[in-house]
Amino acid sequence: MSEGGVRNVIIVGGGTAGWMAAAVLARGLARNRVSITVVESSAIGTVGVGEATIPPILKLNALFGLDEDELVRRTQATYKLGIEFRDWRERGHRYFHPFGSVGADLNGVHFHHYWLRTGQGDIADYSLPAAAAQAGRFARPVDDPRNVLSRISYALHFDATLYAALLRETAIANGVTHVEGRITDVHLRSADGFVEHLTLDDGRTIRGDLFIDCSGFRGLLIEDALKTGYEDWSHWLPMDRALAVGSESIEAPHPFTRSTARDAGWMWRIPLQHRVGNGHVYCSQFMNDEDAGAQLLAQLDSKPLGDPRPLRFVTGRRKQAWNRNVVALGLASGFIEPLESTSIHLVQQGVTTLLSLFPADRIDPAEVACYNRMIRNDFESVRDFVILHYKQTLRRDTPFWRHVADMAVPDTLNERMALFAANGRILLEPGELFTETSWVAVMLGQGLVPRGYDPQADLLDEDDVRAKLDRMRGLVTRGAQALPRHMDYIRDHGGSAAAA
Ligand code: FAD
Repeated sequence: MSEGGVRNVIIVGGGTAGWMAAAVLARGLARNRVSITVVESSAIGTVGVGEATIPPILKLNALFGLDEDELVRRTQATYKLGIEFRDWRERGHRYFHPFGSVGADLNGVHFHHYWLRTGQGDIADYSLPAAAAQAGRFARPVDDPRNVLSRISYALHFDATLYAALLRETAIANGVTHVEGRITDVHLRSADGFVEHLTLDDGRTIRGDLFIDCSGFRGLLIEDALKTGYEDWSHWLPMDRALAVGSESIEAPHPFTRSTARDAGWMWRIPLQHRVGNGHVYCSQFMNDEDAGAQLLAQLDSKPLGDPRPLRFVTGRRKQAWNRNVVALGLASGFIEPLESTSIHLVQQGVTTLLSLFPADRIDPAEVACYNRMIRNDFESVRDFVILHYKQTLRRDTPFWRHVADMAVPDTLNERMALFAANGRILLEPGELFTETSWVAVMLGQGLVPRGYDPQADLLDEDDVRAKLDRMRGLVTRGAQALPRHMDYIRDHGGSAAAA
């Protein structure tokens, strides 16, 4: 360790995780005289997928001082108001998981209890993001809580490679050093097994005090060198392969991600300005690669831009995200399939948590334990939310769907489903990523209808409740129609040549 504590941070990997970590730490540690170096091998390359995000990414972009119009232009981005799920509950059924809130709470009771009481319309009719998505409209929220247009909540779809390049530019502008080279050896200190230095293929040595492993699925430091171990969750999330392919953009992009359930998995459709990102996530136990590829290509609504690219993964998490002087981020720390677009968020969460526990003079076991507990909670709550989409389904039409509908799930999820099934209640732990609105949208969307609702929703007069709900629905419908068309909005805010 350098004199005076952690002074040299070495980030291994230059994918989204590596450059995001570099950009955040460079800003957060600017005054602490910490030097940050990113080592990456362009010969190895990055995974290059990861195009759909969730709203917290906006905070990160703001922290970097990235102008959103410029970001949208440079990364060929579009706006995302939520996810449309097709054929998940049963074939032919659709529902929308919107960002932000749905309806308005009354007397401190969550909106959905009043909706359950009256059964008035589709619950998505009370969500401005859902209504705007269906109408193909978008605008950033207005800064006036009395205006329904303040209730837009959104994220971005972007080209992952262009976004990583933007993060890299931000990091380097804030003093991060970039080293190109392939790491061939990780040297451990005999005294305590901490990583001491890395050796590159040309013989150079890179020394550091703290190493951030962003080397992708393999986990060059956290697993190959430190043998940390992996908690395998594939008995709950058995998808283990994906094929990704871009296709030509032939229509104005929708402001939402589409996820369509298939025979042994699901397909994503992510519209960008210059192309559409498509992928098929599937379970090799129930579908072979040839069929998966053929189904993906058959489903495209425009010409593919190349051959589908195969990816393999095991769902789960590293047993310790922080082990000795190595912190794993991104794919090196674990992976949960991209159904709810959470991986990049988990990188963001990991690096901001690290910043809040950054070692002062030495690596302290109490801080390491705290970090590991927080990251475990983040991963587990995302895991349960994603499992819910498979467990709670009415589909029994293929061996895969029968398998996932019948599988045992974590107790934490069982309890949540049982609580909701009773009277529509959701109990959140502090700091959970997905809000009550998200859980309600997916529980109801997947066909879990509660037997009752919170009796406090009966305290208001029924006619009064119905009138209030009618008013909310009207405001949402009119609000959505008042928004510009999604592509017009992008173009009017400096969108790329493709937008014009
Ligand atoms: P990588 O991109 O794999 O980068 C690894 C880096 O390590 C590279 O720079 C490589 O050169 C370097 N490296 C490796 N070994 C060495 C070595 N020996 N020497 C030097 N350098 C080395 N996330 C989302 O949030 N939304 C999505 O919609 C989404 N979709 C996804 C779809 C699929 C099918 C998959 C697999 C993932 C998806 N993700 C998504 C996850 C997202 O792609 C990743 O979280 C993100 O790209 C971060 O990857 P990474 O930087 O950890 O790893």
